[in-house]
Amino acid sequence: MNSIKQRFADLNAQITHAEYNAHRPLHSVQLLAVSKTQSASTIAQAYYLGQRHFGENYLQEALSKQRQLSAFAICWHFIGPIQSNKTKLIARHFHWVHSVDRLKIAQRLNEQRSAQLPPLNICLQVNVSNEDSKSGIALAQLHELVNDIRQLKNLRLRGVMAIPAPQADYALQCQPYRILYQAVQALKLPELDTFSFGMSGDLHAAIAEGATIVRVGTALFGQRS
Ligand SMILES: *Cc1c(COP(=O)(O)O)cnc(C)c1O
Repeated sequence: MNSIKQRFADLNAQITHAEYNAHRPLHSVQLLAVSKTQSASTIAQAYYLGQRHFGENYLQEALSKQRQLSAFAICWHFIGPIQSNKTKLIARHFHWVHSVDRLKIAQRLNEQRSAQLPPLNICLQVNVSNEDSKSGIALAQLHELVNDIRQLKNLRLRGVMAIPAPQADYALQCQPYRILYQAVQALKLPELDTFSFGMSGDLHAAIAEGATIVRVGTALFGQRS
């Protein structure tokens, strides 16, 4: 009984449970199905169960699946590292980008986003656990970058995304999210309404600390091959 249907039901129950435990409104957390390496037909299965938001890390792979699924009303999120030469296609083919980590990338997305399309929703990726190897801006850069990106009219800055170092301990899972949540609250900008926090391994902690989008691959689709 390890079907996507079963895992989808379990995952939604887990999210509801975490919302309840955190005294947060039902459905205040949106599930982003991370479909990297999954086929278009697997995405279609999740779609028929009601899932509408899908996250992709690799541009060419994503574009190919978008073509196959063009008849589906999917909201596509780009969540992978962004090289400058990829911004044009990302600006054209996605509704959200979670992984903006420098002004230059935001400026390119802004220039390349058609004014005919709605503004591209943006999250700044913040490196809260301060690991040298991970992408994302330092917390100390948040204020300045938020102010710069807010000016870009074809973008709509929505909030932050974080991928903390994996921790088994619940309290340690909470820590980076709490720090980042408070740093965003301190900016007092109501338009920053999005916290893209949490993956399969730390959903509960992320929701307790204010996640509004959880990005889940493995717990929905199973282990990636
Ligand atoms: C792969 C990935 C996820 C999903 O990870 P799981 O552990 O499979 O849930 C979430 N966010 C990002 C940025 C990813 O690259």
